[in-house]
Parts: sequence; structure tokens; C-alpha cells
Amino acid sequence: MAILGLILSVLGVVAGASVPFEPERTQASGSIQVLSTSHVVDFPSSVTMQLQVRSTADISDIQVFYRLGNQSVTSYGYPDFQPGSLVDTSFELRTDGDNFLPQGIVIRYRYVITDTSGGQKLETEEYSVEYLDNSKTWQRLQVGDMDLLFHDRTYEGVESVAEDVTESLRDVKQLLGVTAIRPQRAVILNGERESQASFPPISRTTSDRHVYGGFAFGDLDVFVLADLDRDGMVHEMTHLYMDEALSAPRSHIPAWFNEGLAMYFEDGDKGRVRTVSRASVSGNLMPIRSMERVPGRPDDVGLFYAQSWSIVGYLMDSHDEERMEDLLNFLKRGRSFDPAFDASYGFDVEELDRQWRASVRRGAAISALPDPGTIGTSLIIAGAMAFAMLVILIRRIRGVTAPEGEELLEEEDVEFEQ
Ligand SMILES: [Zn+2]
Repeated sequence: MAILGLILSVLGVVAGASVPFEPERTQASGSIQVLSTSHVVDFPSSVTMQLQVRSTADISDIQVFYRLGNQSVTSYGYPDFQPGSLVDTSFELRTDGDNFLPQGIVIRYRYVITDTSGGQKLETEEYSVEYLDNSKTWQRLQVGDMDLLFHDRTYEGVESVAEDVTESLRDVKQLLGVTAIRPQRAVILNGERESQASFPPISRTTSDRHVYGGFAFGDLDVFVLADLDRDGMVHEMTHLYMDEALSAPRSHIPAWFNEGLAMYFEDGDKGRVRTVSRASVSGNLMPIRSMERVPGRPDDVGLFYAQSWSIVGYLMDSHDEERMEDLLNFLKRGRSFDPAFDASYGFDVEELDRQWRASVRRGAAISALPDPGTIGTSLIIAGAMAFAMLVILIRRIRGVTAPEGEELLEEEDVEFEQ
């Protein structure tokens, strides 16, 4: 649905209630004069910036410079127009497909206009447009480090969840050494159908997808969540804190570590203990080395998350917390993961794999005794007496690699799988 947003004329007329007020400034330089600027948000496809400008000489060049969210990178484009003394032009920024942008981001833009009278230039003030589905009536609330955007919900409901989340995030911030952070935008949607248009197209390059129907965009300081979900908010905010705290690009941090840490601060195990125990018993645990990225095969995604959670839990609970702090400090200083891990834990990732598997085997054996029904029929038969045989079985480690070109699974499916 196309919604006309901001209209700023030389008279300083502002239309569109949801658009932040732009201070009035003289938009003229020499003979070049901006008559009006406006933008149209056509969610989820595009944002179009429109400009009307005139000059005593022919306008020969118009450039639009824009920044996404808090990014320091400025991009630019050239609106199409016929040179003349009065120019009406527009510039379309696609927000879908390969150019996907999440709701909640603010796009800041300005124009540089040149005419033929000896290269006279006008650089306009900076305008901003908030990219949101304007068919919804958005409500806003700031709680802790989150600027929440939501609709058709009560303030009280959102506030109480957000306060609970903020309380849990204290531990995350302490571990990561995050003290001050600019507010992160938290877009809370109302269910699966709405999130279909709001989530990025399924892609193997998207590392932000996870089991809650949410995405964190670290370089844009935004997360989008399908529902008001406490653990999902904790999870995505942990990603955003990590992006803020660790100077190494996220792509240089193994996905198992990134996701495992994001899950560590959630409540409850969500069936992950059982998923990992089953895989251990059947010899299907993935080697940690194969978990640098979220797997492409849908069948592997649930196990990947359960293992990531289990591995980071093992590191946090079976070793001094100081070691994790050391590791994070190395990563903050930009050291790559493997040497940082060796230096802080005193062993390498292969040794971690061995230690963690041993701990899973112990856990699987213990949990098999009181309630074998949950572990499966084979384990009922085998029981604790056959534990030694199981140990042999689970040493048959199956390499798990995602075939090229396979798409990731829908978030919601993963959640139900676990
Ligand atoms: Zn995640």
C-alpha cells in the first residue's frame, strides 16, 4: 500500500503525522531552489524519494546520498530526469529480494543538485524516512536498550515482557562488557502471516535466522520478531550486543558460538537436551568443526541449534566463567576465533568436541535411567547395562555438510521440530 509520507516544501509545510519533523531550512543556493521533497513507502517493496527543484539555468545533475540505520556507510544513486530549469524526479530504493531491508530502519538521505551555470551546486539538508508497513498503526515504547515498535497490542503487555527481557539482559551485558549502547529498534509483529512480508527472503547467506521467527540485523541495530516472545527478544538482543561488543565481523565467529551464546540466556531447555541426547545415542552429533555456519539442510537445523546451545552451556557451566570472559575479550580486540579460544581455554576446538561429547554421553546415560520412554524404544532395550555399547556407537561421527543450493527451513518449522 502506497502511503505518502513527508512533504516538505520551501514554505515548511509538513504532512504525514508519523514522520519525524524536519527543521525548516532554506533550501536554496544561488539560483537553485528546492520546491518540495517527499517520500513514499510502498511496503514491502520500495521507498521512493521525490524531488521538485528549479533553477535559473538548466539542472544538469542530481545525486541522492543515503544512509541506512546507524550505518556509517553512505550509498548514492542518480534519479532519472530530463535536464531543464524545472525538474520533477524520483529515486526508488528497492527493499525486497536481494535488496531486502527490515522494517523499523530509518533511511536518511540528501540531494546534491548541480546546474549548468558554471557548476553551481546545492546540497540539501538531510531528510529521513522510517521504513514501516504504514497499513498498521504503530505504537512506540522505550524499555532498557530497546526502542519497541508494535501494533494492536497493549502497552502494558509489551512493557511487562520488555522489562523482564531487560532484567535478563543485564547478565548478557555484563558478560560481554557492554555498558552503554544506543537504543536498538525492536519490531514486534503479530504472528506468522505478517512476518512473511517482513522477513528476509530465505537465503543461505542470512545468518540471522533462528528458531524463534526473528532476525537481528547487527549493522542496522534492528531486530524483527514474529511475536511478542520473551526468549526471542533475549536471543535477538544478545546477537545485537555481540555485534556491538565484538569487533570481529560476525562471519568470523562460528555460528555455533554466536547462536549458542544467544540461547544460553533464554529460559528452559526447550527439548534441546533430548535432541542432543538422541543424536548422541544414534551417533548423529555434528562435529563442532562442521558448525561454523548454520547448516543448509532443513533436517540439520534443529540439531544444529540444540548442539550450539549444549556446547556453549558446557563451556559456561563446566569451566570458569573467566575463561569465557577472556575469550570474549580476545574477540573484542579482533583476534580470530581459534587462537582466541586456545589462549583462553588452554585447549583447542577438537578437544572441546571430545570433552563436550563425553559430557553429553554422561548426561544421556543419566537421563535414560529415570525416564527411558522419552529417549526412544532402542534405549529402553539397551538401558544402562548397554551403555558401553552406546559409547562405541556414538563414536561413529557422521559428517554433516549442507549440499550447495539448498534452502534453509522456515523458522517456525524448526521451532516445532524441537
Ligand atoms: Zn540467533
